[in-house]
Amino acid sequence: MALLEHIRIVLVSPLYGGNVGSVCRAMANMGLHDLAIAAPRPLDMDEARMMACHAGHILEGRKEYGTTAEAVADRGMVVGTSARGGLYRQQAVTPREVAPGVLAAAEAGGAALVFGPENDGLGLADLALCTDIVEIPATEAVRSLNLAQAVMVCAYEIFTAAGTYVPPEEKTPPAPAALRERMFGLWRTALLEIGFMDETKADHMMLGLRRVWSRGTLTVDDVRILMGIARQMQWAARMRDEG
Ligand code: SAH
Repeated sequence: MALLEHIRIVLVSPLYGGNVGSVCRAMANMGLHDLAIAAPRPLDMDEARMMACHAGHILEGRKEYGTTAEAVADRGMVVGTSARGGLYRQQAVTPREVAPGVLAAAEAGGAALVFGPENDGLGLADLALCTDIVEIPATEAVRSLNLAQAVMVCAYEIFTAAGTYVPPEEKTPPAPAALRERMFGLWRTALLEIGFMDETKADHMMLGLRRVWSRGTLTVDDVRILMGIARQMQWAARMRDEG
C-alpha cells in the first residue's frame, strides 16, 4: 500500500544483529519497507540476515545516518517510543491511538517511528526531536519490550488501521429466516423422536436452542449441516423403532 511506503522505522544505535533482522521481518509482515539506522554501531550481520529471513531486501536496503536528527530530517511526524516515559510520560499514547495520525502524516509527506537501543532506550536529545511519544502498555513489573517486538506491535497497529487487511469471507451468506425456521422445525421433530424432550417441554427447549445458535451468525452452510444432523437423528430413531 502506497501510504505505508511513507513510514520510516528508525533504529537508534541498535546493539544486536538478531534484533535488527527481526525488525526487518516484522516490517515485511506489516507492509513497511523503509528502515533507517541512526548512529550505527558494528552489527553481527550473519545474525541479522538469519533473523530477517524473508526480509533480506529490507536489511540490505537500510539507510544509515550519523544522527537521529538526520534520519528524521524530512519527516513531519516523528514518533518516539519509550517504556520509561519520564518527563514525557503524561503525553504518551498507545500505538493504537497514534496509528491513524501516523497514516494521516504519511499521506501528508512522511512519518517516522524512532526506537532506542536495547540497553538504555532513547535519550532525552532524541526524544526532544519527537512530535509524539508512544508507550506500549505492559505490566508495571516488566514495562520494556524486546526491540523487535516493540516494532512489531507498532507496525501491526499501523497496518490494521490502514484497513488493507480484509478478513476471509464465509463461503456462503447468512442463512435467511425461512431456512433457519425449516432447520428448527427439523430439530424439534428429531429431538422429540429420539426422546430428548417431550411435547410439554419442546417449546421451551427450542427457545434455548435458538438462543445458543444465535450467538453467532448461522450461514447457509451451517444450517445445511444442522439440517443433515436432524434428518440423520430422525432416520436413526425410525430404525430403532422398526428394529
Ligand atoms: N532499557 C530500555 C529499554 C530499551 S528496549 C528502557 O528502559 O528504555 C528498546 C526499545 O524498544 C526502546 O528504546 C523503545 O524504542 C522500544 N520499547 C520497548 N518497550 C517499549 C514500550 N513498552 N513502549 C514503547 N516502546 C518500547
